[in-house]
Amino acid sequence: ESVVNRIAAGEVIQRPVSAVKELVENSLDAGSTSINVVVKDGGLKLIQVSDNGHGIRYEDLPILCERHTTSKLSTFEDLQTIKSMGFRGEALASMTYVGHVTVTTITEGQLHGYRVSYRDGAMENGPVACAAVKGTQIMIENLFYNMTARRKTLQNSNDDYSKIVDLISRFSIHHVKVSFSCRKHGSNRPDVHTVGTSSKLDAIRSVYGVSVSHDLMEVAASDDNPSRSVFKMEGLISNANYVAKKTIMVLFVNDRLVECTALKRAIEVVYAATLPKASKPFIYMSIVLPQQHVDVNIHPTKREVSLLNQESLIDIIQSEVESKLRSSNT
Ligand code: ADP
Ligand code: MG
Repeated sequence: ESVVNRIAAGEVIQRPVSAVKELVENSLDAGSTSINVVVKDGGLKLIQVSDNGHGIRYEDLPILCERHTTSKLSTFEDLQTIKSMGFRGEALASMTYVGHVTVTTITEGQLHGYRVSYRDGAMENGPVACAAVKGTQIMIENLFYNMTARRKTLQNSNDDYSKIVDLISRFSIHHVKVSFSCRKHGSNRPDVHTVGTSSKLDAIRSVYGVSVSHDLMEVAASDDNPSRSVFKMEGLISNANYVAKKTIMVLFVNDRLVECTALKRAIEVVYAATLPKASKPFIYMSIVLPQQHVDVNIHPTKREVSLLNQESLIDIIQSEVESKLRSSNT
């Protein structure tokens, strides 16, 4: 049974960066305004995510890392929403099958917090009372200690660390009110550090640099066909001055960081036709639409999405991007 659980867990948590994504999303769901990430050895030795969110109640600690344990059902009552947001309560459980998980947490109004360690879906030690500041700290040590082949393919720790830095950078330009930091264990110089601003442009400037933020323009579109449900897009895209070797597309759908390859390709096509010299754009885009129009099930790690009426939404976005590019290029 434990082998089956480990294999399933290895599907949910494919690399250190997948664990960080799940942990940071949990911190955001807990209403945190400060999220700090520390990584050792590309995440294989240690991933530590500390937040100042609402914490985890004492009575929830024993089952926290059981599969399908989630506290989010009452917030997202609609079953379809639960399914499409991927609230399966599997992330933490999975981590306990492929790493050593320690949770330290304190809820509002408590005098002290609790620390618990988990192994294979169950509590191992604790809960023991401990000092704690507001929120939750989750530590994953020795990730994939029991998956030799996986550890071998993840030897290059710089590669995984840069994936984690990239992930936190992406989160920080969308969740601008939250301050994020990400650093290597033992270093006191963070590689991402945002302090919570009011504008996405400010956040992009601090994370991706002044030169990028100089070359951006706003895009916005919506689907005002009353017979269809409401779709809204807003974002920042690069202009003719931005020349890069690789497209960067930071996409949020209903505040979740996702990827949509079809949309990315469609936007690249517009750039290639309109600004051939700047055909590898920087794109930040936030799309809001009814959650039941988002299908995340085509990929186990919940990153790649497809949208209902995707072609017509892509058409709307393409024509907005094209008109902005044309008007900036005259
Ligand atoms: P899900 O996010 O799908 O509910 P997870 O396995 O990611 O499942 O987390 C399980 C539960 O643990 C969450 O529903 C939440 O109640 C709790 N939890 C996890 N991380 C945090 C956190 N940083 N702050 C508060 N609660 C948390
Ligand atoms: Mg989660």
